[in-house]
Amino acid sequence: LRLNTRNLDLIGKAGRGKIQIPSHRTRNAGAVKEGIVHIGVGGFHRAHLAVYVDQLMEKHGIKNFAICGVGLQPFDSAMRDILREQDHLYTVMERSDKGSFAHVVGCINSYLYAPDNREAVIAKMAHPDTHIVSLTITESGYYYNENTHELQSEHPDIKYDAAAANENAPRTTFGFLYAALARRHRQGLNPFTVMSCDNMQKNGSITRHMLESFARMRNPEVAEWIAEKGAFPNAMVDRITPQTETVDKEALAKNFGIEDSWPVVTEPFKQWVIEDKFSDGRPPFEKVGVQVVNNVHDVEQFEMHKLRLLNGSHSAIGYPGQLAGFKYVHEVMQNAKLRKLVWEMMQEEVKPLLPNIPGVDIDQYCRTLMKRFSNSTIQDQLPRICLNASGKIPQFIMPSIAEVIMKSAADKREYPFRRLCFVAAAWFTYIRGVDDKKIPFNVNDPMLDELRAAAKADPGGPLGLLQIKNLFGDDLRTDKRFIAEMTQAMKDIAEKGVLATLDEYFPDTK
Ligand code: NAD
Repeated sequence: LRLNTRNLDLIGKAGRGKIQIPSHRTRNAGAVKEGIVHIGVGGFHRAHLAVYVDQLMEKHGIKNFAICGVGLQPFDSAMRDILREQDHLYTVMERSDKGSFAHVVGCINSYLYAPDNREAVIAKMAHPDTHIVSLTITESGYYYNENTHELQSEHPDIKYDAAAANENAPRTTFGFLYAALARRHRQGLNPFTVMSCDNMQKNGSITRHMLESFARMRNPEVAEWIAEKGAFPNAMVDRITPQTETVDKEALAKNFGIEDSWPVVTEPFKQWVIEDKFSDGRPPFEKVGVQVVNNVHDVEQFEMHKLRLLNGSHSAIGYPGQLAGFKYVHEVMQNAKLRKLVWEMMQEEVKPLLPNIPGVDIDQYCRTLMKRFSNSTIQDQLPRICLNASGKIPQFIMPSIAEVIMKSAADKREYPFRRLCFVAAAWFTYIRGVDDKKIPFNVNDPMLDELRAAAKADPGGPLGLLQIKNLFGDDLRTDKRFIAEMTQAMKDIAEKGVLATLDEYFPDTK
């Protein structure tokens, strides 16, 4: 059955309890308001925020926070066309070893593709019914300079949007946010909350700083108003969502009888911890399991656990896994040596550095991660995990190493970091784009040219790469134990390969 509103009931009946359909679509027809405008309707948004909002509409009768999706990128026209054909419905396929469950999501009410009509996007955000503008625009959408922590104000897109003549036809997220907020300021409305759902440390604070910087380039009065009245909650977001493959569409049609041109595949687990800072009201997110917390410190602690344990482990799976010739995350987890590397890195090296969060059992969290990574049914691809490592390793692995160095110096004893160094060494080796069997693979990193050029200063060793100041601090560059570990691990990986090196370093692995 083709996915559309007309077929919803039939789809639900045919699913015999294994398909959840949004009955609010027919129940609320005509009575819904679009309170959330979301920029970046990709896989993750459709598996995360939209699922929470759909549950609010389905189980709690919320009608004023339906979502209007927005696409700014040229390739978003595909999402526009597919959603339009399907009455903005799509299917989330939750997969685990226990089986598969389909959830048709109906909370996206409309979709605006900015290149079609930029004014319509600004007017939508400025409308009094809009209370939140949420974002999953990837790290590059923030125009954030990792080194200076400032807006990339010289970037051609930002310069274009900052010109007064382009205010009503912007290109970037900040251009749209500014234009809509300036109108709300003129109309005496509250600013909408800008809610980042991207995987970045302090995502709300960064969004605030970037937008305020942009607004100051345009109009200091509006910038002042945003600084005073605006809200930018920090959040930790989690749900592993691979790219949809053709086989996923086929499986949905075969197993559930649903013809959906762009379903989403994900795991059963999902988590969202968000700071309770909203400038124009919010839905009762806590009713559907969101952890809404009052203190930014709490969000930061959850974020740190997630980035160091989940994302750090993804790095430990990705770079060594790719060098050893694996394709999927679950395949790496089936290898005893690599599985042990991941578990022991979390338990012995990362866990002792993390704050204790009341109510969180860290060992249980680690065990759950091992189970999630082992989920063979979601087919999570290593190239997705390895993507853009220069934006990831400095956030997920290096801070743990730097803390071990600091703690060791303070306590005058050597805390362990051999596994963390092994992962960093595997990434340095991975940059060459050739695996242990000398088979080339594609390295997808915006800094690749710079990385490869820097590596030449110390062929086979870490010293060249460690000179890149945007990525690595002096604490790493000058630590003798760290340099020795990295040098040895890179040499061993290059000569013997990842698996033989692990055997030698951690010989009790079965
Ligand atoms: P995706 O490729 O499916 O979608 C990316 C979306 O980002 C697209 O809608 C695109 O239009 C938008 N986008 C990209 N660059 C943009 C820009 N410069 N300006 C505006 N919009 C832009 O990817 P995804 O899996 O949905 O992941 C998106 C983000 O979600 C990630 O970067 C990450 O921060 C976060 N996230 C993803 C996962 C996951 O498992 N996939 C988990 C946690 C968090």
